[in-house]
Amino acid sequence: MSQVVRPVTSLGPGRRLGVWFQGCPLACPGCMSRHTWDPSGGAELTVERFTALWREALADGTGGSDGIVGLTVSGGEPLEQPQALAELLAAADEERHRAGRAADLLVYTGWEPAEIEADPAATAALAGADAVITGRYRAGQPTALIWRGSENQRLTPRTALGRERYAPYLDHRPERPELQVRVTAGELRVIGVPRPGDLGRIERDLAGRGVTFRETSWRP
Ligand code: SF4
Repeated sequence: MSQVVRPVTSLGPGRRLGVWFQGCPLACPGCMSRHTWDPSGGAELTVERFTALWREALADGTGGSDGIVGLTVSGGEPLEQPQALAELLAAADEERHRAGRAADLLVYTGWEPAEIEADPAATAALAGADAVITGRYRAGQPTALIWRGSENQRLTPRTALGRERYAPYLDHRPERPELQVRVTAGELRVIGVPRPGDLGRIERDLAGRGVTFRETSWRP
């Protein structure tokens, strides 16, 4: 995995646990997460460790308005590791039942729906997701659709919980996307789906305050 973050508030409804897979061969031009491309990067996340983190997350707020209401899996490309994705979603499902929490499981993938359908391992891996966001990032098709980077990307609920939670957002276009900025150990991470120009604006704003980047994940 590339990183685990709690809470994530900009990739799916409510406060969430976020897990980013490491490794993506799709190389979408304009990808803001080039640091997740190298499959030999990142760190190992065992199912046991993930389960412990998810259990803690589910106990956070225990369902109150500030509680964790779901899991978002992103990348990198989760479908490059279909077995690991399937195991992670199965563990998340088991733990949410144990905790008695209707926490939804959302997966981002750059694969197109037809590619998923043609691949039994990918199809099986996504069987545990309540909702998926599919499709390559296409910089030439900017969008205001919530949680998506380009107009072609589709949000598809796959379960009753997914439909209940995501139906209001299928065509929702907020005025501005929500972005989270986290600073840890000399690194600044932007979480969410910025619109064209947002990252440049953040960079210029920080430069005006004396903060400059040695390298960024959104430039080759
Ligand atoms: S946008 Fe997503 S699918 Fe495309 S290269 Fe970046 S991480 Fe991979």
